[in-house]
Amino acid sequence: MSHGQACARCLYTERHPLGLTIDEEGICSGCRIHEEKDQLDWNGRWRRLEALVAPYRVPDGSVYDCIVPVSGANDSHFIVHLVKERLGLNPLLVSYNKYFNTPLGIRNLANLRIRFNCDLLLQNVNPASAKKITRATLRQFGSMYWHCLAGQTVFPVQTAVRYRIPLIIWGAHQGLEQVGMFSHEHEVEMTRRYRRDHDLMGHEADDLLSIFDTLAESDVWQYRYPDDDVLNSVGVRGIYLGNFVRWDPRRQHEQMIDTHGYQGARFDRTFDTYDHVDCWNFMGIHDHLKLVKHGYSKVTDHCCREIRHGRLTRDQALRLVAEHTRAEPPYVDLFCEWLGVDRRALQFIVDCHRNPEFWTETEPGRWAPRATMTAPGSERARPEDDPGFRATSTLEFDSGRRYVTVGKGYPL
Ligand SMILES: [Zn+2]
Repeated sequence: MSHGQACARCLYTERHPLGLTIDEEGICSGCRIHEEKDQLDWNGRWRRLEALVAPYRVPDGSVYDCIVPVSGANDSHFIVHLVKERLGLNPLLVSYNKYFNTPLGIRNLANLRIRFNCDLLLQNVNPASAKKITRATLRQFGSMYWHCLAGQTVFPVQTAVRYRIPLIIWGAHQGLEQVGMFSHEHEVEMTRRYRRDHDLMGHEADDLLSIFDTLAESDVWQYRYPDDDVLNSVGVRGIYLGNFVRWDPRRQHEQMIDTHGYQGARFDRTFDTYDHVDCWNFMGIHDHLKLVKHGYSKVTDHCCREIRHGRLTRDQALRLVAEHTRAEPPYVDLFCEWLGVDRRALQFIVDCHRNPEFWTETEPGRWAPRATMTAPGSERARPEDDPGFRATSTLEFDSGRRYVTVGKGYPL
């Protein structure tokens, strides 16, 4: 098996790009750390969080207490709910414009600041630089999401420095949630190193300058992480709510749909209707590239999470992966138009990044997986496999004839 040993409980293997270990009982580190969710004293952990944020509270409300990075999806509503309504903090919301916004994502972002009565700072890096970077990183790293990941992880930190707001509050830590890189009790915080090694695939803004002669200082400076002495002078730290709250994205999104007007939508490549509804590409070409490079796609992440929460059996998950992994990436034409490449050129670049450990070229331009890490490829999901995620809207959300106060204006 080219994927290495698989976990006996979830669908991850030793080849997970974040790195995981499998113990003598055949259970992966991600599943082991997940067990903490049912063992820890979460009331006690919430009190630890309250004590942690207390010194950052500004009593007279004259300035912001903290920064909360948000988007039009991905637990943002739940994070702001915890920060504003349960911790009683006054956050400044910050969001990086990915340019791949769906109308539903823009709607959810507007709903977020209106329903929670929050100020929102939106970072729009000029689209010419975002495209130049995307062309370069797509060709070289097989990543069309570098500018999004770099922007959304650095803009909150830059804002913390500029506004002198030391506390940044994130949702869950992906390394903890997926592969059990840390225990909840380590209370791990944001670091420059995790961002570079995992979020940015080892390439920071300055690395792009040395790799690509097509990029200039004016293209990358917005993505540069502040220096340590600058961070230390403000006392910037980033904490993760997932260390203090029993993190369960499905339940959290459903709560926010019921109480705060969050909306989800259906995708072809996964059953999760809540996570990535703000982006045309995350579950499209970006997810396809993940499959090409790593041999699995986002539906596997969703399945592993649902298995661990006890809502899917391994067999159901295997059929869901088989079903969704075969779906063609949607909205590719939209991406080609934005980037200014034709579909064949894009296909060529994608195929250059086929990982030969997972793919074999059966005839010129045709690729087959070497081994399915999942179920026999012919197996289809059954009606009883449907985990029952709700789609309350569509990505093409139409707000009718109303003012749209935050949006991209027109396509760039
Ligand atoms: Zn596992």
